[in-house]
This record gives sequence, structure tokens and C-alpha cells, in this order.
Amino acid sequence: MSALITNIGELVTNAPGDDGSGQDGPGDYLAASSAALVISDGLVAWTGPAARAPAADEAIDAGGRAVLPGFVDSHAHLVFAGERGAEFAARMAGLPYSAGGIRSTVEATRSATDSELSANLRRLAAEMLSQGITTFECKSGYGLTVADEARSVALAAQVTPEVTYLGAHVVPQEFGPDPAAYVELVCGPMLDACAPHAKWVDVFCERGAFDADQARAVLAAGQSAGLQPRVHANQLAPGPGVQVAVEAGAASADHCTYLSDADVDALASSATVATLLPGVEFSTRQPYPDARRLLAAGATVAIATDCNPGSCFTSSIPFCIALAVREMRMTTQEAVWAATAGGARALRRDDVGHLGIGARADLIMLSAPSHAYLAYRPGVPQIATVWQAGQPVVGGRSA
Ligand SMILES: [Zn+2]
Repeated sequence: MSALITNIGELVTNAPGDDGSGQDGPGDYLAASSAALVISDGLVAWTGPAARAPAADEAIDAGGRAVLPGFVDSHAHLVFAGERGAEFAARMAGLPYSAGGIRSTVEATRSATDSELSANLRRLAAEMLSQGITTFECKSGYGLTVADEARSVALAAQVTPEVTYLGAHVVPQEFGPDPAAYVELVCGPMLDACAPHAKWVDVFCERGAFDADQARAVLAAGQSAGLQPRVHANQLAPGPGVQVAVEAGAASADHCTYLSDADVDALASSATVATLLPGVEFSTRQPYPDARRLLAAGATVAIATDCNPGSCFTSSIPFCIALAVREMRMTTQEAVWAATAGGARALRRDDVGHLGIGARADLIMLSAPSHAYLAYRPGVPQIATVWQAGQPVVGGRSA
């Protein structure tokens, strides 16, 4: 079964070399006034000018609208119970954000049944898909007991292959006076219970959470259990998180709000992606990360939602793109690249985040003629159709 999408106003492929430069990175846009794309057996089979498109079993007229790769959200915390709307309101009324709020979600999550957790997770996963996110990462981290972390990663594995074990989110209340004992648990029995369901290991390396030595221990233990590292780094203050991430060969250092020159250099000269989460700064009223400094240094930048009930309860990548453009001075092309190809880099995936030949046919059609509308019309629903592996899963008709 093949499908031809024709009369595409702007086709964003992110495919290396499409801009003729042979270089990979922001700006690799194929933007023609009448482009076309062929999906065959769930993959992108052909892209080019509509006039030269090959025949297919079915034709879909895009009517001049834009087609982009599906968004890749490389940072989300979707396994939880409860909500923290009152904490957000208090914060907007002047209270500061601190890592401690996580503990209230831990209590609610421990008390929830499996089916309550699963229903909330599936609702959020559907919400993400409806906003064009065709690949997302999902972390544990609100259970913080062996049993509650194990069920969190097992539930996450039902909705995505990109599952992250985040037992090292915070030290739970009951270990308050003895964080070392909690790190041992995270690196021992909890890891053993979670590793079979997870691909990634993550640690919140921050004052009030885990220090550099504890973070190194957690990542090393995870790696020896076959997991790949990623790190919550430099969110609330300068700190060692980025250096720990780069040393460990992490796929991504996430947040990157407070960076030294050495941190920027380390990111620019490594394969560790700098993942920026501007929804968090919006929702906590913190300063935004300096995206231009990272891009100027040559670091690979991703944008993700960090969807979670405390510091940022949005599942909207278009909203994060609008923030990145307006508040972080990324170009519209850079922001869209960061939320697609950048996210794929942060998950070490080469089959998604672009529409090169052979890529998974994960794509979105906007109800607008160009990618710029994602920032130009902030807050307006503009995702008309979403295809996952060639199947229309939101809007549209069969492909
Ligand atoms: Zn996070």
C-alpha cells in the first residue's frame, strides 16, 4: 500500500543534504511551492517536486499546506497521579519553585492503582499525539520505591520504546537523613527491577537532588545494566550536571539553563545534545537558557516539553517552539529542527525526526502553509493530520 501526498506548500524534510550544502543541521529544508512525498510500507519512499512524483495507490491533496516530520519529544514525565494546579497558582503569586514539590506527586503516585496510573498516562500520550508528537520519551521517578519504580517503567513501556529509569529523581522523604542509602537502592535492587523495561537511565543532578558523585554512581550502575545515560543538568543553578553528562557519554544533558563557558565547550565538542525545555522556564518564571550561545558554539540543540505535573504541565511542542522563537531567539527553522531532528539525536534515533528516504513515515500536516505558523500563531491548534508509520492516527484518511 502506497500513498502520495501532493500539492504540499512547504515540505520540511530535515534530510541531510537537501539544502545542497551536504551539511546536516538547521536549515536543511526542502521547501517547494508544490512538493510531494510518497509513503510506502510505513516508510518515506520518495520526496521531490509534485510534477515529478511517481504514481501511488492513493493520492492525498495537501492543498498547499505544510508537511513536517512528526515531533520527537525527548523529555517527558507522564507516569504520575495527582496534579499541582494550586502550587502553580501560588508560584505565579510569588512563591519560588524548588525541587521539593516533586515529593507531593510521589505521595499521590504511590497511592494510585495501576489502572489509575495507566489511564492518566494513556490520556497524556493521546494528548501528545494529537499535537503532532509521534515519538516521545517517558520517565519514571514519582514512585521512588522498588515496586513503584518498577511498575512505572513497566507502564511506560506499554506506550513508548523510549523508557527512562529515573529512580534518582529526588531522595524520598523516608531516606531524608541518609541519601547514600537511597543511592545504593537506586543502583542496586531498584535498578535490577527496572532495567528490563527501560532503555535509559537518568539522574537529577542538582542541589537538593543528587550531587556529582552520586550522579556518576547512578549512571555507571545503569550503564552496567545495559541502560544508556541522560542527565537533568544545570536547571536551577550552575553545577556539575553537564560535565557529568558529557563524561558519561550521555545522549543528552537536559535543561542547560545555567552554563559556564566550559559547559558550553563540553557540549559543543561531544555527541551530548543540549536539550532545552522552555516550557519549564515559562511555568516557573525562571530565566530562559541561552540557545544562541549553544548554537553559536556548535552544540546540537533539542527542544522538548518536560511534560510533568509540577514544573511544566504542557504536552504542546508547538507551544515550546513558539517560546524558543520568541523568548530564546531561535529562528523558526532552528526551533522546528530542534523539536524534530534534535529530539531524535537526543534519543539516538536516526529513523525519526526527518523525512529522508527510508525514514519512518511519521509526519504531520499543518492547517497552515509553513512551519513558521507554529510560532506565528501561538496557542492555536494547527495540527490537521498526524501519520505514524504511514498510518493516519489523527485527522485525515487512510494512507
Ligand atoms: Zn524532567
